[in-house]
Amino acid sequence: MTDLVEPERYRQAWRSRRERVLVLISFIVVFCVLVEVWPDPIVLTVCFAACMRAAYRYAAFRCPRCNEEFMDARKILATWPRSDCAHCGLPANTLPQD
Ligand SMILES: [Zn+2]
Repeated sequence: MTDLVEPERYRQAWRSRRERVLVLISFIVVFCVLVEVWPDPIVLTVCFAACMRAAYRYAAFRCPRCNEEFMDARKILATWPRSDCAHCGLPANTLPQD
């Protein structure tokens, strides 16, 4: 039973991480387009806030193995993009070993 649950839990976690990246990139692209086509300060502020929220959600992603933050928030700019957990070293998109 555990063998069936753990891989699925990891898959869901990695899928969530990919979705967070996609949302963040989408908001950044929308923000850049809006700067050119609709430079209204209120619209840009709302879009910028959405970008910051998406960046926070991406940075707050938790490792499926150790449940710590996947990226070290104190070194996020130096280590981004991160391909392994800052705490346990689990490579991204891997499933639990047998
Ligand atoms: Zn970890």
